[in-house]
Amino acid sequence: MKITAIETIHLSRGITVHVGPVQWTWVRIHTEEGLVGLGETYPDPASEKAVILGRLAPLLLGKDARRIDRLWADMFQAIAHSGWAGAEMRAISAVDIALWDLAGKSAGKPLYELLGGASRDAIRTYNTCYDNLSFLTEPVELARSLYESGIRAMKIWPFDPIAMRTRGQYITAGEIREGSDPLRRIRDEFGDRMDVAIEFHGYWNLTSAQQIARALEPLEPMWLEEMLPQDNLAAYRELAMSTRLPLCISERLMTRWGFRELLENRAARFIMPDICWCGGISEAKKIAAMAEACYLPVCPHNCGGPVLHYAAAHLAANLTNLGILESVRKHYLEEYKSIVSNTLPAVNGEIPLPPGPGLGVELAPAVFERPDVKIDLVG
Ligand SMILES: [Mg+2]
Repeated sequence: MKITAIETIHLSRGITVHVGPVQWTWVRIHTEEGLVGLGETYPDPASEKAVILGRLAPLLLGKDARRIDRLWADMFQAIAHSGWAGAEMRAISAVDIALWDLAGKSAGKPLYELLGGASRDAIRTYNTCYDNLSFLTEPVELARSLYESGIRAMKIWPFDPIAMRTRGQYITAGEIREGSDPLRRIRDEFGDRMDVAIEFHGYWNLTSAQQIARALEPLEPMWLEEMLPQDNLAAYRELAMSTRLPLCISERLMTRWGFRELLENRAARFIMPDICWCGGISEAKKIAAMAEACYLPVCPHNCGGPVLHYAAAHLAANLTNLGILESVRKHYLEEYKSIVSNTLPAVNGEIPLPPGPGLGVELAPAVFERPDVKIDLVG
């Protein structure tokens, strides 16, 4: 399956989603047989495209697309001198996803079948609450609307407005109460029928994170996600030792080597790779196996683009040590609809096994007709 061309696609005006305009970079790998593999990364098309077309394409053209591990290792070696994080690894991630899509299309099977088959009939999911209902002002109404659709877990970030005020450098007793209030209200209404993860986006220093974690203990959140930045994993170890609540860490780490440090550090209880960033499906599968060796569950990060949503579902279908898969109701019910052929919505609170062949999703024809579409092709 000889690679004949590499194509990148992005929309210069971006797509307006919950957080405002977001730009995804899509890559399509063309082959001699006419099969085309689709991959995705985000959020900076300029830098990602430069790596894909300038540095990875010369390596890929003319090669056999079936040799995914060989190509991954060659791409990784090619970018290693400039550091393996950042746009370089995002670019490799997008290419790797496209190679797996090709492998599935070539075999005529859904991607999860090539990863070792389905480990479940449907995928447990929690909703990340970018929603029409605000978790700050209407947490009970939001939880009720999720509960009524069959969803039994949700993720909110009620401490972020406080971190914006204090730059995450201090928090008062009153602010701890303010940040805890949405979770307290959900608990009062639903008891333990709804699990709630609290996301912190890496805004806090260690002192404040310890104060918040201790205060949240009686409310039993599902996990505390990314309380600190991720440049000092020893600080995370201190945080983990000071609270009985489990920590989730996290989407910003890349490659098996980045996650090796995290796993050896023993701070995290939920492991959260992002397939579009960590090195693709190949790398996420390896990271999951490493986590399994530590008896830790994997909860794939999935609040990016529509191709990630499918890739994460295929991985989640397969993993024997899946904890729970993230998804965003507003994405699959609304915002993805103009971009892709299907959006794989939750059914009765679970994500169904994704169809094939390959990822089972394509960019919608309307994407190619938009006035702001940018398409580049090397081959
Ligand atoms: Mg997160």
